[in-house]
Amino acid sequence: MSQLLEIENLQVHFPLQQGIVDFLTRKPRRVVKAVNGVSFQLAQGQTLGLVGESGCGKTTLSRAMLGLVDVAAGRVRFDGDDIFSQNRAARLALRRRAQMVFQDPFASLNPKMSVGSTLAEVLRFHRICLPRQVPARVAELMEMVGLSRELSVRKPSELSGGQCQRVGVARALAVNPDLLVADESVSALDVSIQAQILNLFLNLQQEMGLTMVFIAHDLGVVWHLCQTIAVMYLGRIVEIGASSEVFHNPRHPYTQALIRAIPQMHAEASVSTDLLSGEPPSPLDIPRGCAFHPRCVRVMANCRSGAPPESVDMGTVQVACHLYDK
Ligand code: SF4
Repeated sequence: MSQLLEIENLQVHFPLQQGIVDFLTRKPRRVVKAVNGVSFQLAQGQTLGLVGESGCGKTTLSRAMLGLVDVAAGRVRFDGDDIFSQNRAARLALRRRAQMVFQDPFASLNPKMSVGSTLAEVLRFHRICLPRQVPARVAELMEMVGLSRELSVRKPSELSGGQCQRVGVARALAVNPDLLVADESVSALDVSIQAQILNLFLNLQQEMGLTMVFIAHDLGVVWHLCQTIAVMYLGRIVEIGASSEVFHNPRHPYTQALIRAIPQMHAEASVSTDLLSGEPPSPLDIPRGCAFHPRCVRVMANCRSGAPPESVDMGTVQVACHLYDK
């Protein structure tokens, strides 16, 4: 299976605005290391779930992998091409091949346009089909995402949140992408609607063989949708591997804590029931040693002083934790 996406030691840093005191005292400019050395590969037709608490760098990583933010270091190859060494035209072509579905279904659609016009505009802009074929293609896209074609004359305010999110998915599919990145695409929806949209993603992935990155803060939402799960904590991947293995036999204490935080999953997951305590530290003040050590129930003396290995290979999963030091 060929790799569609190859991420190598990716780093995204955001310098903070320098205050007048910092300027006068000549303190160095502080930076937020939103993504701090991430590597993984995603094969054609595979689905990756990227999970972690808010602020762990998931969204920044997804934008960096599409070339939407500047990176401090590292490499992103899309279908073999290094996206940061491409010219503008090639980057624009990439934007078409890699599409995002956003969190807020209402905010991501133009409130003044009917949803049919929104889809037609995308088809015309990217010259996906001949002008006379546009209405039929709009109807086809609506049906692909489980919406009746009659709804195409409605504006977003006349549709439910779930229907708007389906339009968001149809708009992403309109350009026949190779990669779909769904950024917290169900978290703003009611639980019953979430399940419907997750099933829609699952069907699309199976029928169209789409490659997908599915970003969520809830591991329970993504594990059955994705072949691979990557767990992020403060800009790093702390565990990555086959989703059923990560879910049923989590190695990293943070992954175990995330699973414990899913109430309905306690019975299925083979972990103790301690809760994940405290908030993640500020990305401006990342603890020494293992960044998770102030919250870790299995913390050891060396966790406070030395960074854990970047990745210990444990067969179907890789873990960054001193517990598995060779
Ligand atoms: Fe816990 Fe230490 Fe592993 Fe970090 S390295 S997750 S503190 S056991």
